[in-house]
Amino acid sequence: MNIIEQIKYKFTIRDAIDRIGLHTQTQRGRLVANCPFHAGDNTPSLIIYEEQHRFFCFGCHASGDQVDMMARFWGCDTRQAVKELARELGVSQGKRDPEAERQAREKLEENRRRLEQRERLEATFTHEFLLLAAVERACYGAFFNYQRNHDDPEAIRQFEAAVNLIGDVVPMLDQMHYGPERLAAMTAAQRWWGR
Ligand SMILES: [Zn+2]
Repeated sequence: MNIIEQIKYKFTIRDAIDRIGLHTQTQRGRLVANCPFHAGDNTPSLIIYEEQHRFFCFGCHASGDQVDMMARFWGCDTRQAVKELARELGVSQGKRDPEAERQAREKLEENRRRLEQRERLEATFTHEFLLLAAVERACYGAFFNYQRNHDDPEAIRQFEAAVNLIGDVVPMLDQMHYGPERLAAMTAAQRWWGR
């Protein structure tokens, strides 16, 4: 392991977050914080990818790994941050530690596995959410259609099916999250019910 690998092994992005004193929260499955690198960030713009040890700010576009985070915090360049962290962590070049290297490799492998698992889960989740949201939109569509054509037997049939379905779909979607498309469909439906 070179000196930077040793630092990253001993000092994770979580350590950098704690060191800076960032207050993190989870929003829609993502770890976020108010960005300390630009002023007035009241809605959390800083996304932290803990497993990859990366961060990215949607406000000021600050990005990088845990060393870059400390460099920004200290107001120095990456090279100086490496030097400072190496000093603090007692890391030096040329001192090989086979056990630490083996652990570091295992940790990287474990991170990779967890990341793959999460990506698979997210893909499944998104797929199911989109399916359910489509069913919900179709139900609202049937309600609208019935409003305009309440003498049409097909509209009545679809309305009755939608009334039965919506009670199953809505609680499932409530447990997931509110996408913009779903909010638009619900707002339109509420206007309709309010008539
Ligand atoms: Zn920022």
